[in-house]
Amino acid sequence: MSGFKKLNIILLVLLSAFVVIDVFFDFHWAWYLSLFFVDFVICIYGSFVLSAQFFTSVKYKGDRTSKKIALTFDDGPLPSQTERILKVLAQYQIKASFFCIGQRVSQHPHILKQVHEQGHLIGNHTFHHSPVMGFLSLKYVVSELTKTNTQIEQVIGKLPRFFRPPYGVTNPNIAEAIGQGKYQTIGWSIRSFDTIIRDQNKLYKRITRSLKGGDIVLLHDYSETTIQVLPRLIEYAHQNGLVFVRLDELLNEEPYR
Ligand SMILES: [Zn+2]
Repeated sequence: MSGFKKLNIILLVLLSAFVVIDVFFDFHWAWYLSLFFVDFVICIYGSFVLSAQFFTSVKYKGDRTSKKIALTFDDGPLPSQTERILKVLAQYQIKASFFCIGQRVSQHPHILKQVHEQGHLIGNHTFHHSPVMGFLSLKYVVSELTKTNTQIEQVIGKLPRFFRPPYGVTNPNIAEAIGQGKYQTIGWSIRSFDTIIRDQNKLYKRITRSLKGGDIVLLHDYSETTIQVLPRLIEYAHQNGLVFVRLDELLNEEPYR
């Protein structure tokens, strides 16, 4: 049972208890308000913290006793940026995972083809990467996922199972769409903030300060800082005995249907 369903049951039980107490005692209305406020705060936290697995089950790390780690690149494929990342990965002979936006796949199918042909894993990251994903209808969310998978299948001939929600936001509609499509939701254990951090050293330190076996690192194709810092990051991991693998190997899960 999801945390959201458990919370609803607790809310219902407490609300019933409040009503019963209210019949026999003078019960201040502020108690009801406090209950709904706490419920609201927990729901907001659950919506934004993917690893809390509040609405759906999420894989956000691998085996901590292993030396395997996974690099994940979101928001591609993009000409130039994705190709430069591929070049670095090929140079060090390592494999990574790419969560792609359907619309960008339709614009740059040849880049996606390169990503796939070079042995990297492809996942679904919705069609439009809407900033208001949390407010969209179930029908719309389902179409966002389905359209992206269809687009990817046309290029690589495979339907992704792995899905990463944009901004890591989940809610009951997104969870329902994930369940209907039988996707495996993928989170991360290291959020690099490479979309904000412009300083190479700062980004390098943020990622390496706690890097260990089992980690899933969230990066973005379009981050210039990431592209610049990638060789140093790979060399640091190698010096510390860490091995880069794709998400399917890290999590021991089928990546395609
Ligand atoms: Zn994204």
